[in-house]
Amino acid sequence: MQTIMVRFGEIALKGEWVRREFEKKLMRNISSVLDFEHELLWEWGRIFVNTNKIDNAIRQMSNVPGIVSISPCEVTESRMDRISEKAVEIAKNIIKPGENFALRVKRTGTHDFKSHDVAVVCGDAINRSTGAKVNLTAPDREIFIEVRQEKAYIYTRIFDGLGGLPVGTQGSVVSLISGGIDSPVATFLMLKRGCKVYPVHFDNRPFADEMTIKRVKDVYENLKVYSSGEDFDLTLFPYGRVWQLIVEKAPRPLTCILCKRGMVKLAEKLAIDRGCLAIVTGESLGQVASQTLPNLRVITYGIELPIFRPLITHDKVETTDIARKILTYDSSIQKARCCAILPERPATSAKLEKVIEVEKDIGFDETIQEVYEESKSSVITH
Ligand code: ATP
Ligand code: MG
Repeated sequence: MQTIMVRFGEIALKGEWVRREFEKKLMRNISSVLDFEHELLWEWGRIFVNTNKIDNAIRQMSNVPGIVSISPCEVTESRMDRISEKAVEIAKNIIKPGENFALRVKRTGTHDFKSHDVAVVCGDAINRSTGAKVNLTAPDREIFIEVRQEKAYIYTRIFDGLGGLPVGTQGSVVSLISGGIDSPVATFLMLKRGCKVYPVHFDNRPFADEMTIKRVKDVYENLKVYSSGEDFDLTLFPYGRVWQLIVEKAPRPLTCILCKRGMVKLAEKLAIDRGCLAIVTGESLGQVASQTLPNLRVITYGIELPIFRPLITHDKVETTDIARKILTYDSSIQKARCCAILPERPATSAKLEKVIEVEKDIGFDETIQEVYEESKSSVITH
């Protein structure tokens, strides 16, 4: 079996009890994504994974929020002679003729040598056995040695993790997923920040096409890998009736605003029923008419739970870059029918009083409540 060292970031800043809880959760999350035989060990500030499937483990752990970086490593006793032996063995494998190298040594625990001594002794041994010279500023090869109380870990590769916090340590949220480019990215960012997420899509059929549903299901499958084995079930919530009410009864310029308000109102009810403490959307300031500051204020009005908008300051290119990295982009750009009633002149600065008045006139909240009661127990969850 080989060993992989797992480093985590911000968890290390928490108080001791919180930190232990986070680390335990991170270990459970790692264990639930590794679908092959493995052993997990905990040491102060580090997690170690022993497995024969190093490449698979690295790939799967690179999607686990809370992990900062990962290194497959060689393990030996934390004795100078053993460390030096291993370092030479590794150096012989990786340093090519004419190349120089640097040793980067860290040490925690009590030993009868300091990290500088390790660098000097091992550097010398490597130099004698390979002929390679030390170059600390711009080395061709780097060898990292981490000496801990009982054991020393030697490695040459560091793979980036996602960073963030372990999923499930920061409470639960309902995330509104349209299937377009933005909302999957917003959902990913909340998972990365440690929230358990309930993704919800408001299903506009028969007014939306089947492609819209396929698109959101594909995006959901892409996102699942970041949920670290926590429940992450897509809810398709019937929205056609609310949509129809808006189309038939509300003034055209307000359709988008009312449509969004209907969604967050339903999302809040779902959130409360599921013990979630916030709602998440993919809105970004000024991106479209319904996302101007006055309109976001109107959309938010009357909603008691916080609405998180992780992309509020993102340019589209920044969001698109993330979408490509997290592999939701290709699913998101599948053609789906645009909203059939996008008004020609959507309000960019809807008046709150007007919106409240219209909602009263058309019986908006009553319809929302009925739709919720009708559908809450029968919603399709994937
Ligand atoms: P996206 O790229 O996520 O589709 P967008 O920039 O196209 O976002 P809108 O279509 O105005 O913006 O939607 C704003 C936000 O409202 C979305 O990011 C998403 O969170 C939510 N949303 C929109 N339509 C739906 C839907 N049918 N179901 C669930 N949430 C939705
Ligand atoms: Mg959209």
